Amino acid sequence: MNSKTVIIGAGFAGRQACRILSRTDTDVILFDPNKFTVMLPSLPDLAGGWVPEKLLIHPLKKIIPRNIQHIQKAVTSINLDEKTVTADHATYPFDFLLIASGSVADFHGFDQHLDAVHKLDSLESALRIRDMFKTYLSCSKAPHLVIAGGGYTGLELAASLRFRSIADGTPSKVTIADPSNQILPFLSQVEHDRITDFLKKNNITVLNQSKVTSFDGQNVDIGDQMIEKAFFCWAGGSKLSIPEIKGSVSQLRDGRITVQPDLSLPNYPNVFAAGDSAAIMQHGQPLRKAINFAWYSGARAGKNIASCLKKRPTKPFKPIDLGWVIPLHTQSTGKLFSLLPVHGRPGLRLHYFMCGLRNFNIVNFIGFTKISLKLFKKERST
Ligand SMILES: Cc1cc2nc3c(=O)[nH]c(=O)nc-3n(C[C@H](O)[C@H](O)[C@H](O)COP(=O)(O)OP(=O)(O)OC[C@H]3O[C@@H](n4cnc5c(N)ncnc54)[C@H](O)[C@@H]3O)c2cc1C
Repeated sequence: MNSKTVIIGAGFAGRQACRILSRTDTDVILFDPNKFTVMLPSLPDLAGGWVPEKLLIHPLKKIIPRNIQHIQKAVTSINLDEKTVTADHATYPFDFLLIASGSVADFHGFDQHLDAVHKLDSLESALRIRDMFKTYLSCSKAPHLVIAGGGYTGLELAASLRFRSIADGTPSKVTIADPSNQILPFLSQVEHDRITDFLKKNNITVLNQSKVTSFDGQNVDIGDQMIEKAFFCWAGGSKLSIPEIKGSVSQLRDGRITVQPDLSLPNYPNVFAAGDSAAIMQHGQPLRKAINFAWYSGARAGKNIASCLKKRPTKPFKPIDLGWVIPLHTQSTGKLFSLLPVHGRPGLRLHYFMCGLRNFNIVNFIGFTKISLKLFKKERST
């Protein structure tokens, strides 16, 4: 009888592992509640109504190899010692496991009127923002967008929605509350100044050392400041998307699972983690959450499971940092190969080109390539 390999998550990491393991003689079961792949880096653009939904998605059944069984359910629990996963109250055994379920928004215990708080971690959440922000703008006399969290998701969403409000003729105030002393502390001074300058010019206020302290469904308190009738979005961090892992596993504060250099879990040589689910260390720091790292770590985990099946030694994952870009609708900042600075329109073009390239579909590739060539209209800020 063939061995059973379970892959949790059909994102960038999980799909690479599927591709590799489909060529081996293990039986692969893939769990993912979605029917589609989602180009997550373009969620802020979708939320602002700048790109159509269809450009971000592609049916999984068209790219998952036929010999892989896709169970369209979310895994709710993993038992590492019993070698089982649970989804929708059913239990499934595994011989090998890859945890590649990415991450979801983390409210860090904030629990006030969550039904009226907008997060941005999935296609559905971006569509909800798009539709509800448009309605909000049309009904509001003095629109005010409040975002908790000034990481790249918060800033990209702020820029996208600010320009949407201008394009719709109802410019919205934008306030970002962030508990740190300085947003994006990993940026160089030049990069930081560029972002700060962009935010100021576009009337996006950042309140550092500030937290949203309460929300009654309409009004947001940030310390002693109250913002009335706000459109409130949460971009205050992310956590592992599997609620329960039983076994001796160590995790970072955000839930990422500690892995060895070959991406297996320290006490479980048959269990691997990749992408945003894994705490992959480089120079003493966990790698940032990024598509390239997910893509190549998923492939390495798949190859290592294939090696285990053949009783061959596994190999370490050696991450190569191709770079990053923070796209802010009309401005960008980034660095390629940890060395070459990129900003402004070239940075935006590169970002959208990469969104097309990693999109598994020629139509989506062409769509994003067009965006990277034309970019968005530069609405006048007010
Ligand atoms: C708003 C935003 C902007 C970003 N911008 C960039 C960017 O510009 N550049 C960049 O490189 N990276 C960016 N990222 C990060 C990048 O998208 C992630 O690093 C990458 O998607 C991680 O890939 P993954 O395969 O680990 O997880 P994902 O791509 O998140 O895939 C995880 C999969 O697991 C599934 N899943 C979740 N929970 C379960 C469960 N319990 N059971 C079964 N399946 C489950 C999900 O449905 C999903 O299909 C951005 C992310 C966000 C949210």
